[in-house]
Amino acid sequence: ALQAGIVGLPNVGKSTLFNAVSNSAKAQASNYRFCTIDPNVGLVDVPDQRLKKLAELVVPDKIVPTQIEIVDIAGLVRGASKGEGLGNKFLGNIREVDAIIHVIRCFEDENILRDEGAINPVGDKEIIDTELQLKDLDSVEKKISKSEKQARTDPKIKAELEVLLRCKGHLEQGKSIRELDLSKEDKVAIADLFLLTDKPVLYVANVDEASMHTGNKYSEALKESVKQEKAEVIIMNNNIEAQIAEMENPEDKELFMEEYQMKEPALDRLIHSAYRLLNLYTYFTAGVQEVRAWTIQEGWKAPQAAGVIHTDFEKGFIKAEVIGYSDYIHYGSEASAREAGKLRIEGKEYIVKDGDVMHFRFNV
Ligand code: GDP
Repeated sequence: ALQAGIVGLPNVGKSTLFNAVSNSAKAQASNYRFCTIDPNVGLVDVPDQRLKKLAELVVPDKIVPTQIEIVDIAGLVRGASKGEGLGNKFLGNIREVDAIIHVIRCFEDENILRDEGAINPVGDKEIIDTELQLKDLDSVEKKISKSEKQARTDPKIKAELEVLLRCKGHLEQGKSIRELDLSKEDKVAIADLFLLTDKPVLYVANVDEASMHTGNKYSEALKESVKQEKAEVIIMNNNIEAQIAEMENPEDKELFMEEYQMKEPALDRLIHSAYRLLNLYTYFTAGVQEVRAWTIQEGWKAPQAAGVIHTDFEKGFIKAEVIGYSDYIHYGSEASAREAGKLRIEGKEYIVKDGDVMHFRFNV
């Protein structure tokens, strides 16, 4: 599964959020598969309304959502890029994730220690950004010094070097690579560096209870400061989320959420957004035994998508029967969609669309 890593300064509510995620995953374990990978890694179901709707039509024995991994990357502090407090280890952990969930403290609480003085969401974000940027600068500079000599004789390396120099200049201005306008070819030049500030990010403004629905001056300031990045800011209260996730009885959960005027846990929104951030597609299989969501990357062809279910499906792929999601919903069943001519037979070159309802034919 793809991974999203939770980062942020100490005492901003990261582990509270992580516990909420892993507890809600455990609560689901009664219905679905769950495995603990690591104390800091939780596997969580991705809520998807389309899956629900399909299941309402098919009424299967089992509904199986797709999952993503959430990793708690604790321990980032000012100076991490210089190796302060295990800094390099944590930065290394970030390199492995596919997307970043950056938690920012937007709540006041004098009992909760804050090394950096008064609450300052924008400043906090900058501290973390700076560490990641410095680390990236290091990677970029290393590659520059390696390729400088070759660039004199090799035009391809020369072009790469130009991209690297642009990245360097950009980072030196205190900006993240994701804000830099790079073409697809440019991206190839830096792909092997897995730059930290190139990873997609979303921000969690961890606000106090009273601001859960409205946000507050801190979350507003944060929103303003990330406008340029076009990044999403999710306003939530991690303590409340952790409490909801701990409740085993669904009725207790409902009552609790009602009390706080919540329609759904904010966690659902967060996971959904993290999934979108990863640029993932979902296709479905819909049978009476199980209706299930499967994760693929944008652009994958049918055999590769089939391989997510089983490698044999990919190896022995013959063809796929495909019904578009909205056709399926419109006609209400596979049989009716087929009658209406909406079931397509697709071959090896078919590029799977988000929401496709698929059935694979394969040789064993
Ligand atoms: P981490 O160091 O970022 O992992 O932070 P923790 O999740 O351990 O949280 C640090 C402290 O802040 C804990 O005592 C939490 O209970 C508390 N905390 C977390 N979220 C909130 C919140 O939304 N409001 C308040 N008042 N306290 C919170």
